[in-house]
Amino acid sequence: MSDPVKNQYEMRDPREQYPKPPFPEQPQAAPGLAAKMVPEPDHGETSYQGFGRLKGRKALITGGDSGIGRAVAIAYAREGADVAIGYLPSEEKDAQEVIKLIEAAGVKALALPGDLKDESFCTQIVEKTVAAFGGLDILVSNAGKQVFQESIADITTEQFDQTFKTNVYALFWITKAAIPHMQPGSTIITTSSVNATQPSETLLDYATTKAAIAAYTEALSGQLAEKGIRANTVAPGPFWTALQPSGGQSQEKVKEFGSQVPLGRPGQPAEIAPIYVLLASQESSYITGGLFPVTGGKIM
Ligand code: NAD
Ligand code: MG
Repeated sequence: MSDPVKNQYEMRDPREQYPKPPFPEQPQAAPGLAAKMVPEPDHGETSYQGFGRLKGRKALITGGDSGIGRAVAIAYAREGADVAIGYLPSEEKDAQEVIKLIEAAGVKALALPGDLKDESFCTQIVEKTVAAFGGLDILVSNAGKQVFQESIADITTEQFDQTFKTNVYALFWITKAAIPHMQPGSTIITTSSVNATQPSETLLDYATTKAAIAAYTEALSGQLAEKGIRANTVAPGPFWTALQPSGGQSQEKVKEFGSQVPLGRPGQPAEIAPIYVLLASQESSYITGGLFPVTGGKIM
């Protein structure tokens, strides 16, 4: 970052706080690596300050190696939670950086490489987290697949299937395995998108899964109330993460990424982590079944 934010409480003009488009073209293979992005995303490494809001909690975050999941992992660890992260084996480099950051916060870290398209892997990451930490109080289903295509004719059945397996089926498998381990006060947080209600025409399959995640989370919250478990979904707008230049958008759109929202720039992962902290902590005790847009001003 050219001018890193010293802490998240420093008052700044939000329009000027982080880089604005135009950005350089920067194609990379999916899943992308955060370290290869120009400029590098801010996940709160130097700025996030914790206050013990999640002291003693045990969290599992899918896609915790990079982007939004990495920012949430850093924040949760600094708020006092033990943190397990799921990620794809090819993302080991990003993941190891996050593991070090979690451990530096003085809490336990657990690395869970593997493919969420596999039901047995989804069940295993829950069991391994429970075994390592002695329980599970916070589940953040955040991993996602996004591949842009100009036309439905270009979307193969294989792509459609993989997008649904990663974004929807995995969510279902992990949640089902997690609930029996969760005590009253536990929370589930999913990651939807502005695409849930304002679908991009080039993200047909992806947008459909994000609408599914919103409906899924709302329905789940109703079921879980009687167990004292809360469930909410966060709907990000444009965030500067490896998902976008690695096939999530065309390079033309990457160059102008974030210009379409009122604040005129993409969000940085560090700017969305605080709502995941709020929704995980007891501060949000009366908040369940909610959908929270974090979009730089784009109305959902
Ligand atoms: P990201 O690429 O940094 O994170 C996504 C992660 O998903 C990857 O790091 C990877 O570990 C994981 N993943 C993908 N396929 C997987 C698989 N088969 N098995 C295991 N893990 C897998 O990008 P991000 O933008 O931080 O994405 C996080 C979430 O935010 C996603 O659900 C995405 O849809 C959502 N989102 C992002 C934006 C944005 O503009 N970046 C906007 C709206 C919603
Ligand atoms: Mg990643």
